[in-house]
Amino acid sequence: MRIHKGDTVLIISGKDRARKGKVLEVSPKKGKILVEGINLRKKHQKPKKTGEKGQIITLPAPLDVSSVKLICPKCGKATRTGYKIVEKKKFRICKKCGQEI
Ligand SMILES: [Zn+2]
Repeated sequence: MRIHKGDTVLIISGKDRARKGKVLEVSPKKGKILVEGINLRKKHQKPKKTGEKGQIITLPAPLDVSSVKLICPKCGKATRTGYKIVEKKKFRICKKCGQEI
């Protein structure tokens, strides 16, 4: 997965295009990610007890990893990522500034 939890990403397609958000969850198997405040869906929550009112809550829905670009924390640009291997360890690098991210 080229996007990790905690990354800041730029949305490049869909209704939230050009917005930025923090990655809350990644599902590598599905190729989906959950981004804070992005792709919000309204959900009706049923009352838990009698006499309580149901409420509408907004939650982010997963979006395809291909609809985001990583924002490099080092240079602040939306970038593609590459990898380099140093002493058998794999590092993710920014293709714009070449720094490890
Ligand atoms: Zn960079």
